[in-house]
Amino acid sequence: MNTPAIMEKLKREHRLTKEEWIFLFDNRTRQSDEKLFRMADEVRREHFGNKVYKRGLIEFTNYCRNDCYYCGIRKSNLKVSRYRLSEEEILSCCEEGYRLGFRTFVLQGGEDGAFAKEDMIRIVSAIRSRYPDCAITLSIGEWDKAAYQEFFDAGADRYLLRHETANKEHYESLHPKQMNYERRIECLQALKEIGYQVGCGFMVDSPNQTSETLAEDMMFIQDFRPAMVGIGPFVPHHDTPFKDKQSGTVTDTLFCIALLRLILPFGLIPATTALGTISETGREQGIRCGANVVMPNLSPTIVRKKYELYDHKICTGEEAAECVNCLNARMEAIGYEIVVDRGDSPLWQGEKKA
Ligand code: SAM
Repeated sequence: MNTPAIMEKLKREHRLTKEEWIFLFDNRTRQSDEKLFRMADEVRREHFGNKVYKRGLIEFTNYCRNDCYYCGIRKSNLKVSRYRLSEEEILSCCEEGYRLGFRTFVLQGGEDGAFAKEDMIRIVSAIRSRYPDCAITLSIGEWDKAAYQEFFDAGADRYLLRHETANKEHYESLHPKQMNYERRIECLQALKEIGYQVGCGFMVDSPNQTSETLAEDMMFIQDFRPAMVGIGPFVPHHDTPFKDKQSGTVTDTLFCIALLRLILPFGLIPATTALGTISETGREQGIRCGANVVMPNLSPTIVRKKYELYDHKICTGEEAAECVNCLNARMEAIGYEIVVDRGDSPLWQGEKKA
């Protein structure tokens, strides 16, 4: 086995064996990383040119019933100042977002029981009727299949639910007993069956992650073939059980982004805020290594700091318009362009095959 041959195989076949994945993770050099980054950028340019899609993120609640060991808004963190946006506030975030050229709204939140299924259906329907030309993405955790179906019928197009890790034991080391690996995967399968453009994903360098668990993540993704994959570095939060764990690195994250681009040539892969948090130029580097999406925040400035999943999260003070201008300039400076577009998966429209 040798790294260049495995990378060429991945580019050609969009999948590898577990042994090949582990070999790739265990035999990295600066040179082979750079070759991979170039290959990933070539593939993304072939299918997306220099276009970058933007998604308007609306973090509408930081209440959560879950207690993930890594997450700053976990239920047991009693220091969090909790908030919920009203339906009216959510709609005014969309209004501002539309004005700023967003054509995808991402409603993300903790698993907040106060937003019942009917509330989410009402909110999705209201956005759908006001913005028929926009995509609606939900990122609101685990529900039963019937609820996912009702959100879809109300007008939601996409769903982000990171699988977090494709290794059961690793999953159990990141989450308390109440959370269940099999259920997470069942949710992702259900979302796909319903017809959502589905996004899975994981944190890079999360505690207990190994070459083997990463190989399993990549194998899960090459089989599941999601429309989107959200990955970013694990970043510790000072009021969680993982407060003393090591933060993820930029190069490990770029390495995973580039691999994902070769698995999913048409995939929608964000350069995440977490990547921008651990490095001033993290998002630019992500875009240059195969990512094609950015997700600026549309939440009202007064709640931004309260949606603190990890320490030192960037862009918590700026108005949405400032974030958009800043990102436009950053992308332009490296030769990419943020476009006004829903940015659906090209495969979704049935135009191409992976
Ligand atoms: N509740 C929804 C869910 O479970 O999908 C969406 C919100 S959840 C906070 C969004 C994502 O944030 C998680 O899937 C996790 O990967 C990421 N996240 C949480 N804590 C993090 C941390 N300390 N560092 C990096 N990413 C983190």
